[in-house]
Amino acid sequence: AAATVPPPTVTADGVAIRLEANLERAEDVPALLEAGAEGIGLFRSEFLLAERSPERLTEERQFEIYRDLLISVAPRRVTVRTFDLDERQLSRWSGRDRRDQRPGRRGLRLGLAHPDVLRTQLRALLRAAPLGQLRVMFPFVTSVEEMRMATAVVRDVADELGRPGAVPVGAMVEVPSAALAADLLARESAFFTVGTNDLIQYTLAVDRTDERVSDLYEPLHPAVVRLLRLVRRAATRTRIDVSVCGEMASDPAMIGLLIGLGFREFSMTPSAIPMARRLIQDVHVS
Ligand code: PEP
Ligand code: MG
Repeated sequence: AAATVPPPTVTADGVAIRLEANLERAEDVPALLEAGAEGIGLFRSEFLLAERSPERLTEERQFEIYRDLLISVAPRRVTVRTFDLDERQLSRWSGRDRRDQRPGRRGLRLGLAHPDVLRTQLRALLRAAPLGQLRVMFPFVTSVEEMRMATAVVRDVADELGRPGAVPVGAMVEVPSAALAADLLARESAFFTVGTNDLIQYTLAVDRTDERVSDLYEPLHPAVVRLLRLVRRAATRTRIDVSVCGEMASDPAMIGLLIGLGFREFSMTPSAIPMARRLIQDVHVS
């Protein structure tokens, strides 16, 4: 089933739309293939820590996991997000930094603060890269400087492995500062993936897990729509790929709006893909 990449979904007036899947564990690969996804648009690698501590997730173990994942969906593209954790979650698994339980360091910030964890993951990823179509993506990017530091680590690890420049390195745009500085960030990124779950949460100051304010979690808030437009325009001007991977992409009511804003790539939970495909086939872009 995995031998060829399914063709893109095409709108009623002939515009190609790429549909990929969000994955949390390798066990979901059959669902992705079944749904006809063109690739994995977001692999939430932190779920690998749900069953083991970072110490047990050695470079070798991670290499095997990424290798098997790439091979199981080849020749489809796989975008692996580096661990998106905060310090509390990391310490729960590893016992490090028990003194500091505040959640301020998260995603890429945490990776830069714990370079051993980040480097181990990047070594495993770059070693697996030649076995498929890998892209690496950093979560929770908040500034150009962070992205520069992160790509410097990738370069360093690639040099160490004797395989410089092997994989595209992209940024998740899921914090308003990244969206507002998207034109600058685009110059440091091979691609963008918009994480609308966090982008909505941080733009509207609405905790996505707090049901008391869930009525205020509004994807169509003008502030959110404006940020989305800004990100898409920055990506187009810099000629980098941009996809949308938050839950918003899998909401049938939203996909037309996102296409209208100029997005042509989406990643969603595998079960949402067939419905998205049917809707897109009825959409007229112009
Ligand atoms: C997002 O923030 O939109 C996203 C896709 O990442 P996660 O839901 O894993 O935070
Ligand atoms: Mg997120």
